Amino acid sequence: MISVTKAKSLVLKNSFTFGVVKLPLEKALGLTLAEDVFALNGVPSFTNSAMDGYAVKSKQTKAATKDNPLALKLIGSVKAGSFAKQILKNKEAIKIMTGAPLPKGADSVVIKEDTFEEYGKVLVKKEVKPGENVRFQGEEIKKGDLALRKFTVLNPAALGFLATIGIKRVKVFKPPVITIIATGDELVTSSEKLTFGKIYDSNSVSLKAALKECGIDPVNILKSPDDLTGLQKTLSKAIQNSDIVLISGGISVGDYDYVKKILKSLKVKEIFWKVAQKPGKPLYFGKQGQVLVFGIPGNPAACLVVFYEYIRPAILKSMGRKEISLPTIRGKLTKTLKKNQNLSYFWRGKLNGNSHPPTVTISEKQGSHMLQTFALGDCLIIGPENITEIKKNSLVEVHLLPWRNKL
Ligand code: AMP
Ligand code: MG
Repeated sequence: MISVTKAKSLVLKNSFTFGVVKLPLEKALGLTLAEDVFALNGVPSFTNSAMDGYAVKSKQTKAATKDNPLALKLIGSVKAGSFAKQILKNKEAIKIMTGAPLPKGADSVVIKEDTFEEYGKVLVKKEVKPGENVRFQGEEIKKGDLALRKFTVLNPAALGFLATIGIKRVKVFKPPVITIIATGDELVTSSEKLTFGKIYDSNSVSLKAALKECGIDPVNILKSPDDLTGLQKTLSKAIQNSDIVLISGGISVGDYDYVKKILKSLKVKEIFWKVAQKPGKPLYFGKQGQVLVFGIPGNPAACLVVFYEYIRPAILKSMGRKEISLPTIRGKLTKTLKKNQNLSYFWRGKLNGNSHPPTVTISEKQGSHMLQTFALGDCLIIGPENITEIKKNSLVEVHLLPWRNKL
């Protein structure tokens, strides 16, 4: 049995990116750039109006006030998407809409609210400075400039920005192909009847959802009874067709826990089995070539704890992310907690961010088979190895779950 720290470092030491793919923008949300991207056009690509109003020569508006408006001859109008053919001369104005190219000869725009129109003239009630209400060509970025660096995570704004600079496809770190295998004779899916002795398979449901949160969608889901030959076939197929294989159940010491034995026969190299932790002690991690194989304890709360503490960081690292662990803060315990000296604990808990420092309360019903209080909680409270008690009001390490990613 190894420590949590050792196990985490072994997982990360053995996790790498799975190469690079070029994807259209609409497929790249949440993925990480695997290249520096340069602007194919400047933004804006032409000088244009920031407001609805009138394009003018600013010096022609000098000393204009509400009581003493200055009259300019209106010689045309320009819509966004078209452009004015005229060249603006002194004492002239061209009506202009937001986003329309600034006509030649104009250097500023008087906003509509500071004018009124009368007999083919526009009366300007306020002086404008050169460049006022104008968005200049290349103001945000010039053609050929570095737009986004390698390792930028593509959020909706980044995708929009890339579209603006003329990018259609981007090189990103390939999201891993992941297969989940739910093992156990007792498992039925939600469409099947829950007969005596059976349970609904919840691990494939929560793991699939947790993977979606990481930007992995779709995932392959397979099911297998605790049967040596059948499970061997399923595992072998999964390893051949995946970058990461998540096996739920069958990794402990029960008579029908065949996973470890089968993985050995399939030449998966064991990196560790069993971690000094609660929940999730029988966690297994191995590798066959580049393929990562996790044997996850079947109890639903253990399964998710292990996912967030070990598997998610490995997946995010493979996707080129730099922030791969759950955000960590310190919180003040509302109750004294007792633990077994030789194990690290991951208590499911709830954070109260309104107090300073924030307080954390351990959820009721910490059974590793129990999900309800996990569902209502929002953090994992860390109980370090080698201590038997953490006193009320002491500060503890708290890992925020993705659905609680802020204080
Ligand atoms: P195992 O790790 O296979 O020994 O399973 C430990 C406990 O988790 C048992 O009570 C199983 O019935 C339960 N379990 C295993 N797989 C799942 C699953 N996919 N969904 C919900 N519970 C499961
Ligand atoms: Mg089982």
